[in-house]
Amino acid sequence: MTYRITLIPGDGIGPEVTDAARLVATATGLPIEWDVVDAGERAIRASGTPLPDAVFDSIRRNKVALKGPITTPIGGGFRSVNVALRQQLDLYASVRPARAIAGEGTRFPETNLIVVREATEGLYSGVEHWVDRDHTAAETVNVITRKASDRIIRFAFERARRDHRHHVTAVHKANIMKTTGALFQTAFREMAPQYPDILADERLIDNMCMQLVKKPEEYDVLVTTNLFGDILSDLCAGLAGGLGVAPGALYGEGLAVFEPVHGSAPKYAGQDKADPVAEILCLELLLRHLGETEAADRIFRAVWETIHEKKVVTYDLALPGYTARPVPPSSCSAMAREIARKVPLVDPSVPIPPARPAGPVGTDPSLEGS
Ligand code: NAD
Repeated sequence: MTYRITLIPGDGIGPEVTDAARLVATATGLPIEWDVVDAGERAIRASGTPLPDAVFDSIRRNKVALKGPITTPIGGGFRSVNVALRQQLDLYASVRPARAIAGEGTRFPETNLIVVREATEGLYSGVEHWVDRDHTAAETVNVITRKASDRIIRFAFERARRDHRHHVTAVHKANIMKTTGALFQTAFREMAPQYPDILADERLIDNMCMQLVKKPEEYDVLVTTNLFGDILSDLCAGLAGGLGVAPGALYGEGLAVFEPVHGSAPKYAGQDKADPVAEILCLELLLRHLGETEAADRIFRAVWETIHEKKVVTYDLALPGYTARPVPPSSCSAMAREIARKVPLVDPSVPIPPARPAGPVGTDPSLEGS
C-alpha cells in the first residue's frame, strides 16, 4: 500500500528542511506519495490567500501531513496560518517531545520530557480588540472551556500511559487567573484520580520555568494551555539542544499534522544552513503514527548516530559553547544526506547509550577525544 501524505513546504527555511525530510523518507524504502500543497507566503503569491482550501482538502483526504514552518506577520497583516489550521481542523493536541540527543548541543543531556499543549483556544482564540478609538488600550480574550480542558488533560494522561511515562504535571496560573486558570486546574484535579498509576502534580507557570532550567530531568509530561505551552515548548527545546532538533505533532480526531517547534527562521532562508533534524524527527513521529515502527526507529537511530559522531552536523550542533567538541559546520543538505545514508545501515535494536551526566558543556572529561 502506498502512503499518500500531505506535504506543506512552508516559508523561509521550510522548503530546505522539508526537502531534507523527504530525502530521509526515500531512504526508508517505504512507498510514499507526497501531496504537495502551499500555505503561507508561497500560497499568497500563487493564489492571493495564505491558506487556500486545497490545504484543508488535502489534509482531510490524506488524514496525515508533514508541514514546514510558516511565517506570521508580527503586529499586523494576515492572521496566523498555523493557528487557523489548528482551529479549523480542530487539531487540539500539540505534542512536543524534548529529548536531548546524544548529549550534544545541551547543558542538560538527561532531558527527556513531553509538552502537551492545548492548541485551539486560550489566548490564541483570536478574540481581541482595541478598547478605545485612540488605540491606547487593548484586550485579548483568554477563552478556556471545560470541554477543551478535559480533552487535552485526558490526552496527556493517555499519552503518558502509552509511552510508559509515570508523571504528569499540570501547568497553570490559577493563583492570578481565578476563572480560566482555576477551570483548567479543576479539570486536572478531577481527571487525575482516574489514572492512579501516574503521579499527578501541578506547578504555576513561573515556578515551572525556574524548575525546568534547574532540573528538567525531574519532569516527564507537562500539560498546559495554549500560550504557556507555546513558551514552555521553546524553553524545553532549548534544554534538549535547541530549536534545530525539536519536533512536534498536532493531533485531532482522525487527523495528524507533524511540524517542528521552530519557525521559518527567515535570516537563514535559502542558505542551506538550517538544522534539518527537527523536521526529520517530525517524519519519524509521523511514521510511528502510521505504525511504521521499524522505519521510525531507523530514522531516530540514524539521527542519533549522526549527532553522536559529529562529523556532519549543522552550525547549531557544531559551535563552541553548544558542544563539548566543536567541529566545522556542515550544510543542511549535507547533514540530511548523511542521515539518509545511515538509515538503511543502522541497527535500531542496539540500545541508545545512557546520556552523559549533566554538567557545563565543554568541561565533561568523559567526552574528551570521543
Ligand atoms: P524561529 O524559530 O524561526 O527562529 C528562532 C531562532 O532559532 C533563530 O535564531 C533561528 O535562526 C533559530 N532556528 C530556528 N530553526 C532553526 C533550525 N532548523 N536550525 C537552526 N537554527 C534554527 O522563530 P522566530 O524568529 O520567532 O519566527 C520566525 C517566523 O516563524 C515568524 O513569522 C513566526 O511567526 C514563525 N513561526 C512559525 C511557526 C510554525 O510554523 N509552526 C512556529 C514558530 C514561529
